[in-house]
Amino acid sequence: MSWRTYIREVEPYVPGEQPQGETIIKLNTNENPYPPAPAVEKALRNMDPAWFRKYPDPSADILVEALADCYHLPKERIFVGVGSDDVLGMAFLTFFNSGKPILFPDVTYSFYPVWAQLFGIPYETPALDGDFRIKPEDYRRENGGIIFPNPNAPTGVFLPLDQVEEIVKANRDSVVIVDEAYIDFGGESALPLIERYDNLLIVQTFSKSRSMAGMRVGYAMGQEELIQALGNVKYSYNSYTMNMPSIILGAEAVRDEAYFRETTGKIMKTRENAKARLSRLGFSCTDSRTNFLFITHPRVKAAQLFEALRRGRIYVRYFRAPRLDNYLRVTVGTDEEMEVLYDFLESYLERL
Ligand SMILES: *Cc1c(COP(=O)(O)O)cnc(C)c1O
Repeated sequence: MSWRTYIREVEPYVPGEQPQGETIIKLNTNENPYPPAPAVEKALRNMDPAWFRKYPDPSADILVEALADCYHLPKERIFVGVGSDDVLGMAFLTFFNSGKPILFPDVTYSFYPVWAQLFGIPYETPALDGDFRIKPEDYRRENGGIIFPNPNAPTGVFLPLDQVEEIVKANRDSVVIVDEAYIDFGGESALPLIERYDNLLIVQTFSKSRSMAGMRVGYAMGQEELIQALGNVKYSYNSYTMNMPSIILGAEAVRDEAYFRETTGKIMKTRENAKARLSRLGFSCTDSRTNFLFITHPRVKAAQLFEALRRGRIYVRYFRAPRLDNYLRVTVGTDEEMEVLYDFLESYLERL
């Protein structure tokens, strides 16, 4: 047999486009429109390239400590990685080894099936209801682990905490991962539940609410046993995942609580305004608690609108997938960017 027979065949995750150039309005990958906290810039200027001669601290201690202060947790309950994608991938590898199918919603973050396939983990995908809500009763069957984003992506729909708890409680023999990439935009974190549930892992990221997608910083929080297990797998693969600037600048970003409240607050305000403006144009929006909107219009196909926006140099996200293919996911930008979007949509719809 040729070596080709033995290549690990995977169908990769497809990230949103990163078009280059200044003249576009980029609302396609849920980046934060505001810069990172001012202390990040200051720390960046004070960085000495001579530091890069040495390996970074493998435990990323100053970052873990800043997160521990922020969330009032002991350091032993925090794991950090290269964006939450790294943390999530590591968690799949660490916790989903029973051979039984893991569960995640049919409409969700499209990286989950990719990791499952890469690691040979069987999975089942219980369907969201007609309003894109997770049905907790679907997560009462036998399983090898559970993962879902809260709020969910790309719908923006938030699952109330009592229902998250219901799922965690009904599955004490599985690890339940709650991917809280968007929790800082008005959801309620399940973090307090880690006190009571040793099977709950919370994963968050600096990419959205802390304006640091380019730095690649993510983290998980849970009881010591889970965090220890993640660390053991990580150190069996690559001890030095996080680079020195990410560790230093990440710590600075976490310390500025006031700036974090201000920018996430602005985004939520713009989002609520966008819901009203877009409904006036005839769009239906889910009740998103994230930094994006999930919208559909009765008179125009999403695919067609996506192309028209693109030609107008406004980038949004379109998913050619069952149940999603008549929706657009639109990141909440600045008020100025959103005005350009509303103007475009208004004149486009008038011309129909
Ligand atoms: C953006 C996102 C992530 C990954 O973000 P990182 O940039 O890797 O931290 C994970 N889960 C969901 C649901 C996301 O939307």
